[in-house]
Amino acid sequence: MLKVEGLTKLYSGIPAVQDVSFEIPRGEILGYLGPNGSGKSTTVKILTGLIQPTRGHVFLDGVDVRHDLTAYKQRLGYVPEEPHLYTYLSGREYLQLIGRLRRLSQPRLDRKIDDLLDLFDLTPARHMGLASYSKGMRQKVLLCAALLHNPEILILDEPFSGLDVTAASVLKGLLKTLAAEGKILFYSSHVLEVVERVCDRVMILQSSRVVAYDSVKRLREMMTLPDLEQIFAQLVHQEDATERVKNILRVVAS
Ligand code: ADP
Ligand code: MG
Repeated sequence: MLKVEGLTKLYSGIPAVQDVSFEIPRGEILGYLGPNGSGKSTTVKILTGLIQPTRGHVFLDGVDVRHDLTAYKQRLGYVPEEPHLYTYLSGREYLQLIGRLRRLSQPRLDRKIDDLLDLFDLTPARHMGLASYSKGMRQKVLLCAALLHNPEILILDEPFSGLDVTAASVLKGLLKTLAAEGKILFYSSHVLEVVERVCDRVMILQSSRVVAYDSVKRLREMMTLPDLEQIFAQLVHQEDATERVKNILRVVAS
């Protein structure tokens, strides 16, 4: 079980995340939702050990991950939001690099890389520089990289950005299957449709604070609203987009 207690992160005294606590048992996917700037990526960076929280702790099976961060990171797969990759490497070279860092044996690595590239329709592009990949293709490479060592915990930050319909549907199936195999999944997104379909529980953030934490089913019952989009809109007090559109057009035309 991955457990987070009282996570708070301040940047120059300004909170990016405030008092976030949750648990993800093995076999479950937690959907982490919120509008832009609500603190999702900051939480992800704390969960992956990239940054330290100002307050709070992350525990894996009861042990504070700070106790042995290297060992924790070895059990983790991470798909970051920004597909910053070594653009001078080809997709295959990048995966080779990651696989070696993850200490996979060469024959196993070669086989896995070729299979994964094939399954993500990247074989024709495997020798091309990552600079020439589209955002979706880079996202797929990052996903392959995160899966190479078959991690127990998978942390994904907006993994569907740039993916086409086929790739998105493959990823949805993949996430569900990985959870069914007993893995721990943390899935951060502002796209509600996928969260609703794949996640067991959702946490909704607004301006760095938790505004809801429950199963999708319970949230629906509680709010008597038919889908997550409407629940989200109510909790997050989203303004009417039409008004914003009008104002933008006014400025554009001025
Ligand atoms: P989300 O991923 O939900 O869009 P983030 O976690 O990236 O949100 O950001 C939450 C808030 O923290 C935002 O107001 C953002 O400007 C701020 N923030 C994020 N990273 C930094 C940083 N390195 N330095 C200062 N402020 C930051
Ligand atoms: Mg983000």
